Amino acid sequence: MHRMSRQTVPATSPPNPERFTIAASVDQLLLAASLFWALAANRLFLGQALKDRALAAPQTWAYALALIVLLACLHYLMLAPLANRFTVKPLLALLVVVTAVAVHFMQAFGIYLDPTMMRNVLRTDVGEARELFSWTLLPNLLVYAVMPLLLLSRVRVVQRPWLRATAVRLGTALLAGAAFVGTLLSVFQPLSSLMRNNKDLRYLATPANVLWSVGAVSAAQARGAAQPRQAIGLDATLGAAAAARSRPLVLVLVVGETARAANWGLSGYARQTTPELARLPVINFAAVNACGTNTETSLPCMFAPVGRRDYDESRIRGSESLLHVASRAGVAVHWRDNQSGCKGVCDGLSHDEVVSLNPAGICADGHCLDEGLLSGLDERLAAAAARPGTQLLVLHTLGNHGPSYFRRYPAAFKRFQPACENDDLQQCSQQEVVNAYDNALLYTDHVLASLVAKLQAASDRVDSALVYVSDHGESLGENKLYLHGMPYAIAPDVQTRVPMVMWLSAGLPRAVGLDAACLQRRAAQPAAHDHLFHTVLGLLGVHTALYEPAFDLTSGCRTMAA
Ligand SMILES: [Zn+2]
Repeated sequence: MHRMSRQTVPATSPPNPERFTIAASVDQLLLAASLFWALAANRLFLGQALKDRALAAPQTWAYALALIVLLACLHYLMLAPLANRFTVKPLLALLVVVTAVAVHFMQAFGIYLDPTMMRNVLRTDVGEARELFSWTLLPNLLVYAVMPLLLLSRVRVVQRPWLRATAVRLGTALLAGAAFVGTLLSVFQPLSSLMRNNKDLRYLATPANVLWSVGAVSAAQARGAAQPRQAIGLDATLGAAAAARSRPLVLVLVVGETARAANWGLSGYARQTTPELARLPVINFAAVNACGTNTETSLPCMFAPVGRRDYDESRIRGSESLLHVASRAGVAVHWRDNQSGCKGVCDGLSHDEVVSLNPAGICADGHCLDEGLLSGLDERLAAAAARPGTQLLVLHTLGNHGPSYFRRYPAAFKRFQPACENDDLQQCSQQEVVNAYDNALLYTDHVLASLVAKLQAASDRVDSALVYVSDHGESLGENKLYLHGMPYAIAPDVQTRVPMVMWLSAGLPRAVGLDAACLQRRAAQPAAHDHLFHTVLGLLGVHTALYEPAFDLTSGCRTMAA
């Protein structure tokens, strides 16, 4: 680039690199970048903000202009404290790239970049991230990143004495602040009612959403790191009935991933996506509400005594989980992961990962099929049979983790055809996406039925129960939404309704004093992730003051005190 430009310079003038640069002050650069983002990166924000207005009306244009001024001032004010002569170019370069990627994913999947979504992004492992990047990212990178970066590389930052630079920064910030407040007042009424009706709209303002959410997650992490997890259920013990059991009891809790109730055969989906479970005497809970719309929220919440009904993220993240309470009562707890970890739920407890076990023929490219979760289970059940006791085994599946649903099942489960076999869902028709998603459910059905078969085979020596529940649902292109993670208040049902299934070995109802037919009737009533903590304690026979019978799905079906 440089050399080509030089050739256009007349031979009479000496080559002088300064001639090809743009001189700009830190504040000019910040203002230019803020204006660029306000105009170029906020199509979704402006689209949502203006969606109920007549495009031709002059008031609409005035309102749109006011929003752009607000966005530009906001970005200037957010960046001004961070930028000086030395940091301004690296800062803008980084933000330019981040913004380009953010705009791509927001537009492609209808994602809101709130702190929870940011936590997902920051905790995503390499394997997960690889599936999300596709060639369709390139045009966005070119427009939003490469061209601005080329321009930025030509900028020479004007040097000013620091006193003067500080005075100019303060002056510009005051002006931007005044413009922000003045503009805000002029559109206060429509803007405040818009924000009240759609609180999450602010998470579409880009890249302010990225800056804000990264800040919020970092602050929460700093707070969390400063405090050890608070112990809960210090009074937990096994109840008299559980302690007196002569046979071992194993509860297997399978935490599903991204399975939505709408496509669950047992819950009435037009397609039979659960043929193997349908042949078993399982108890299917047809109306279950998830705690969150993403793993980072749902997983810790599912293992907390109080979840969605009085949601407090910092309390949940700052406290021990169901597993610690069970372990304290003397239950042998083990977590086996086939995904991105237990999100703190199993901290300090026994755990392993399928990818490290590397069962034959199960793993490739850093991902393993969910059947790997069952490896060694027969031996574990045989060991359990040898000594009485109570065990809780948690299996964390990869389930229907998107967007590459087709990578979640082996060839034998390619039943619904044609299935999307592209990491980029935009390249497939909606039906192909649904086909791949349903095939992945067929495979989950197979894994669960295989697990039941193993428990069944050991049921003459070990009483056992399986509880399967998914962490959240998924959008499959309805209303142009894909994947999950919509803010809960505006999330569609397909993201918040999840399947939940139980299976009990023949000896279990007697062992724990449970009327299985009654539980079958309870399954027709609504349930939620909030029930999980108390239901599992109830099945295990753990006594603690934390236990709330009202949230134990089995409590109305007891034939004796646990
Ligand atoms: Zn999840």
